[in-house]
Amino acid sequence: MARDPRYDILFEPIRLGPVTAKNRFFQVPHCNGMGHVKPLGHAAMRGVKAEGGWAVVSTEEVEIHPSSDVSPYIEGRLWDDRDIPALRLMTDAVHAHGALAAIELVHAGTHAANLYSRDVALAPSPICVVGSYTPAQARGMNKNDIRAYRRWHRNAALRARRAGFDIIYVYAGHDLSLAMHFLQKRHNQRSDEYGGSLVNRARLMRELIEDTKDAVGADCAVAVRFAVDELRGEDGIQCHEEGREVIAMLGELPDLWDVNVSDWSNDSQPSRFAAEGYQEQFISFVKSVTSKPVIGVGRFTSPDTMVSQIRRGVLDMIGAARPSIADPFLPNKIANGDIDDIRECIGCNICITGDMTCTPIRCTQNPTMGEEWRKGWHPERVPPRSGNDSFLVIGAGPAGLECARILGQRGYAVSLAEAESVLGGRVTRESRLPGLSAWARVRDYRQQQLNKLSNVEIFRTSRVTADEILEFGATRVVLATGAHWRRDGIARANLRPIPGFDRPTVLTPDDLMNGALAVSPVVVFDDDHFYLGAVLAAQLRGQGLDVTLVTPADRVSAWTVHTIEQYRVQKELLSQGVAVITSRNIRGFDGQHLQLACTYTGRESSLTAACVVSVTSRLPDTALSDALEPRAAELAAAGIVSVTSIGDCLAPSTIAAAVYAGHRHAREFDWPESDAVGFRRELPHLADVPLEERIPL
Ligand code: ADP
Ligand code: SF4
Repeated sequence: MARDPRYDILFEPIRLGPVTAKNRFFQVPHCNGMGHVKPLGHAAMRGVKAEGGWAVVSTEEVEIHPSSDVSPYIEGRLWDDRDIPALRLMTDAVHAHGALAAIELVHAGTHAANLYSRDVALAPSPICVVGSYTPAQARGMNKNDIRAYRRWHRNAALRARRAGFDIIYVYAGHDLSLAMHFLQKRHNQRSDEYGGSLVNRARLMRELIEDTKDAVGADCAVAVRFAVDELRGEDGIQCHEEGREVIAMLGELPDLWDVNVSDWSNDSQPSRFAAEGYQEQFISFVKSVTSKPVIGVGRFTSPDTMVSQIRRGVLDMIGAARPSIADPFLPNKIANGDIDDIRECIGCNICITGDMTCTPIRCTQNPTMGEEWRKGWHPERVPPRSGNDSFLVIGAGPAGLECARILGQRGYAVSLAEAESVLGGRVTRESRLPGLSAWARVRDYRQQQLNKLSNVEIFRTSRVTADEILEFGATRVVLATGAHWRRDGIARANLRPIPGFDRPTVLTPDDLMNGALAVSPVVVFDDDHFYLGAVLAAQLRGQGLDVTLVTPADRVSAWTVHTIEQYRVQKELLSQGVAVITSRNIRGFDGQHLQLACTYTGRESSLTAACVVSVTSRLPDTALSDALEPRAAELAAAGIVSVTSIGDCLAPSTIAAAVYAGHRHAREFDWPESDAVGFRRELPHLADVPLEERIPL
């Protein structure tokens, strides 16, 4: 389709100092859990973004020195010349598609525990090392340290240019860099010319910009990433005072400004807590105080919103991390008029869990994310069919929908049967809960794509039986029938049923989502530890009930530390008046009281409850696989060569895992059976180690 002329403005080239971006789409730095440890995977992932039309593709934060070692987290690394070839892989991949490559140089200061390098951490003034209660402190930098730091940064910029980067960042964002720590009153208690007044606190940032311009400014654009507001009131930088003053002071020095809010949990807010464009109120002033191009983020997926940001003078370029992860081809789809094909980010922050768990990035909407090199998966291209199989996919949750989509795109004849009248499975049910409406995009995107495929037929309101499978006539059957929440309380803290959980006043999340009503006082028992327990507690509180959340963990929704929303989740519940009891297990329920037990001491206490919502674990729905298993001969006689369970009906997990399972089966069902590792691995390249360094002691 032709592009809508309304969007032409998004495809105007933009001059950034000595280089030119071909359009206004800027993939801002984002972590990915591959970094310097898996450079081939990293380069391929960035290359796909460039192929998808992003004019600028950035690295994640790149450590410039061993005293900025954020191990075990896996970011980029540019400690010396030997790190150049790995980064060169990325710049080559990005340049191959006519995009510019940007690098975010970082000294993480007191955010670097230096667990690998064992260097002493650095800070403007003596302070504790931040994160995980690390029992170490950073030392306050003296003038020699400052000179050394400037030298490291300059050398890193020179190396970055040699690695082929076109845009080189000075980073003062996310509360994660020395340049920012010097700016912040709470981190900088110096009394010399680098402390005190804002001019003094900004001195180091000014010097870094000038040093970088001087070193590489003739060939490379110098960008500054700066958090104009920390959302912590007077204790932090605020956009109406020092955030604004810094840009007013330094505004013309770099070639572009990439502005946002800090810290990371504020910058990457999930859709549960913030709508598209949520940073505008903080960053909209920036263009009025600098003539340089301004980039900002806001989980932008709508081209109309993007155009509006530019027309209203908020931004010059549309920055994106998550939207580029969910759909690396977002710019090209807008360029080609394929708006309906955009795979919109749902704002779930599963992508961030890769970085937080030190494993390669993954994405709920884009199962190919992180698999570009490892499995050779491309987000827009799939291999054609390898035979004449026909498929019956049963269940249209995220696993079944994705499996049908990819099988259909490969050219197979696919029948997708769903018991309900509405597709989407758990995604449809959960997206009706408070704050989760954007999750319906998992269904909507796939439904939209399936509608385009004439070789895929969808049967709604069709609960399939084992007999019907045998009669249907497909050669391959995929079971994607999902899971249901257990009633008996078994999960992590309890491996045997909780006495009394067989009472009718114990409800499951499925009961609530199907319309069952809870009564006050209600206790939500969360031994699941992801989002659902807290979401249901908030919903019940919103209905005016007296709600207590009990969890064996030491905090609410403990796993959401990895989606960087745990603080917000617990704050929301407490602000709404939900009582929170942590580190308590449930030993029993007599219909009026819960018997609680401290997870440390076992000390018991009693809690009044008229009703309990048990958010514990799920049981796979295996009715069909159980029924078919003893009927192998009939399956063979019917010409059915495989029956495969995927997604939650195999083993319940995240929505991202279900989408991945569907995608994987559709790509790999026709691989020969093998015990080989199913993906490429990046092994240590001992051949690169000089002989003299290989001699054992
Ligand atoms: P997953 O996350 O693995 O995709 P879901 O629970 O989201 O699982 O989706 C499973 C879907 O399968 C649900 O929409 C459910 O209605 C459907 N389903 C379950 N059993 C059958 C069946 N026998 N026939 C057709 N659809 C079924
Ligand atoms: Fe968006 Fe979720 Fe994908 Fe991250 S994982 S890019 S938040 S859809």
